[in-house]
Amino acid sequence: MNKTVLITGTSSGFGASAANFFTQKGWNVIATMRDTGKTSSLRNSENIFVTKLDVEDTASIQSAIDAGIKRFGKIDVLVNNAGYGLFGIFESASRQAIQNQFAVNVFGAMDVTRAILPYFRENKSGVIINVSSGAGAIGFPMASIYSASKFALEGWSEGLRYELASLGIKVKVIEPGGATQTGFLNRVGGESTGLQLINDYLPFLEQTGKMFQSMASTSDIDAVEKVVSAIYKAAIDDSTRLRYSPTEDIQPILNARRSSSEEAYQQFTDSIFTQANS
Ligand code: NAP
Repeated sequence: MNKTVLITGTSSGFGASAANFFTQKGWNVIATMRDTGKTSSLRNSENIFVTKLDVEDTASIQSAIDAGIKRFGKIDVLVNNAGYGLFGIFESASRQAIQNQFAVNVFGAMDVTRAILPYFRENKSGVIINVSSGAGAIGFPMASIYSASKFALEGWSEGLRYELASLGIKVKVIEPGGATQTGFLNRVGGESTGLQLINDYLPFLEQTGKMFQSMASTSDIDAVEKVVSAIYKAAIDDSTRLRYSPTEDIQPILNARRSSSEEAYQQFTDSIFTQANS
């Protein structure tokens, strides 16, 4: 019997590419999205079942899981991929905008996971793959709220893996760097237009904008392929490994975070993030 994966946010980007990749590998894919009209990035395959799932709507989560199980018999792997970035000055963001960010990136992943766990417990197996970000390991300037949401996702994943390991269920975290080929940056742009402009921050915004432009130019051209391969590896490698950081662009900063002292890490990040502003 083919294995089955349920992926959230498959209307574009990593989610759509992962859906196509898993199908090519012979998997059944429950490709979920908020708007089931947005299937143009998905392959035409009888192994892809498209169904509605908005991570902010718990009824849609349950009905997508039920419909997927009805179609393919069971679910082996969940990929919590749906997410977006709220970038900008913290003081500019309303309480509602921040709550919306957490509603999708954190509570959405939690709600889908809570709904699927009874099935995984019944099967005594299952893999939960949470798509975080380099911003889930490092606080990026102008991305304090996005980083906070991805740090929360990672902290939750790290703690959760212990209780689920006792039931034969694995938790994995994927940390992509920048991928300009997905719909992510468009949504970042759309979200930031809703933020209030505070003039005092303009010099910081200008310098940080330049820093991000230069970082974007170093992002891996094959980032989507690398992230999708890492998601697939996490699904099949049968290891207890928690984190996968598949793109090159963020390796220096992740190494500084994880393999050096706090002081050396801060010196390194200051040299990248704040020198331009001093
Ligand atoms: P993307 O192309 O914009 O894909 C995001 C997906 O999430 C879309 O399918 C979007 O659906 C979906 N989504 C948003 N809100 C949702 C909701 N309430 N319910 C269900 N689906 C929802 O961007 P991407 O780069 O592939 O992003 C995928 C994941 O990778 C995100 O978690 C993101 O934080 C993470 N990530 C991206 C990058 C990057 O540079 N691209 C780097 C690190 C991490 P709609 O079409 O309906 O909006």
